[in-house]
Amino acid sequence: MPELYQLTIKEKLEGLKNSSFSSLELTESYLERIKRIDPELNSYITVIEEEARVKAKESDQRYQAGSPLPLDGIPIAHKDIFCTEGVLTSCGSKMLANFISPYSSTVVKKYEESGSVVLGKTNMDEFAMGSSNETSYFGPVKNPWNNKCVPGGSSGGSAACVSAGLAAGATATDTGGSIRQPAALCGLTGIKPTYGRVSRYGMVAFASSLDQGGVLTKTAEDAAYLLKAMSGHDPKDSTSLNVEVPDYINEINQDIKGLRIGLPKEFFSMNLPQHVEKSISDALKVFEKLGTKIKEVELPHLDLSLPVYYVIAPAECSANLSRYDGVKFGYRCENPKDLDDLYMRTREEGFGPEVKRRVLIGTYALSAGYYDAYYLKALKCRRLIAGDFDNAFKSVDLILSPTAPDISFALGEKSSNPVEMYKQDIFTIPANLAGLPAISIPCGKHKGLPLGLQLMSKSLEESKLLRTAHHFQLNSDWHKSWPSL
Ligand code: GLN
Repeated sequence: MPELYQLTIKEKLEGLKNSSFSSLELTESYLERIKRIDPELNSYITVIEEEARVKAKESDQRYQAGSPLPLDGIPIAHKDIFCTEGVLTSCGSKMLANFISPYSSTVVKKYEESGSVVLGKTNMDEFAMGSSNETSYFGPVKNPWNNKCVPGGSSGGSAACVSAGLAAGATATDTGGSIRQPAALCGLTGIKPTYGRVSRYGMVAFASSLDQGGVLTKTAEDAAYLLKAMSGHDPKDSTSLNVEVPDYINEINQDIKGLRIGLPKEFFSMNLPQHVEKSISDALKVFEKLGTKIKEVELPHLDLSLPVYYVIAPAECSANLSRYDGVKFGYRCENPKDLDDLYMRTREEGFGPEVKRRVLIGTYALSAGYYDAYYLKALKCRRLIAGDFDNAFKSVDLILSPTAPDISFALGEKSSNPVEMYKQDIFTIPANLAGLPAISIPCGKHKGLPLGLQLMSKSLEESKLLRTAHHFQLNSDWHKSWPSL
């Protein structure tokens, strides 16, 4: 018999409906695991035990009344970037370590309306800047597969908690790879939808033209349940797309026969580690068996992605983070002498080194003398990268690559070398620059640590990604194992 945490979301919903267990029992089983396992893992910044129990009891009443909501009683966690009314929303920073949000983000509200039970808020890199969760003010998170290794980032807490069975699924955000890279490093499914699919209202801003909410789950089917609940138009977000959200759950079984999968030759000429290549070529065999056609494609401007991202993201972050000035909310330094001192010391004391580095780079790239040379140039290159995808998608339906350059790495191994850390997102950043949806799924293991592959598609084709991932998972076992904890 599998334990409760090991059931898929679909199985949990069935069990709740059939009264095999109650929502309160399910919630208690997660709270007990969190108490036992999380002190070592550090995946949660805040656990809201009492609120979770209250919500679970409400959910049980709806089941008893025979009118459950779509995700009734499913215990989830929110990345601590999503404003949650009455709950600490720290964004992994000292700057917001005292910020009890007075309102809830649209994502948090939508999950409330779907009946899910929120267990708490997950750890993350400070302001979502990082690939290892080591920039968090609340300390690093450990990878459940090996506690000497990082879970990836910036959604490292969400990834670690789902991978360890401390939530049935978790929300996350992805500006350059922060859903997909931790999914790969923790052996999970992670989907970043099309830019504009999920509302950014109440999601603490890092780089507004790239930030997108999504989910981390065990399986593609679980992701379909959670993505359905969080997607949709929001008049409170001016970049939210006013288009219908497909029924990801029903569409997930549709056949994938005949789909054309493109392999960008620029990615595969990169000298990948042998075990990464092998995991991808094994996965391709599965896809071929499923009736898809594999062909090479070209994305000629791919090598510009990393430098373009590291101009645009810092530029936008330097504008977004200027709101943290010690005046209205968040951290304020002690006894400021005057207004300048208040601004300077608040930021000096409230921000960590990676955030400061980004603000400096961004301010420089946007300054009058350098705007044309850096920021404007980066915008033009971004257009070229998006154009490459438009061209490639004329001849294929999906594009496949590794998600991350390798398995997880040791805590501390890359933290003193920012450029090495930035390279973690070499495969994931292009989708953010082009605003495209992308999913990461487990496709192998090396030295006991998970490996992931990424699929990208045209705008708004999340359903195709979920379906392809689901069929792969029906024909592979990588997503099934659990770390022994
Ligand atoms: N690792 C990348 C960065 O540090 C991406 C982060 C993200 O997607 N939020 O910027």
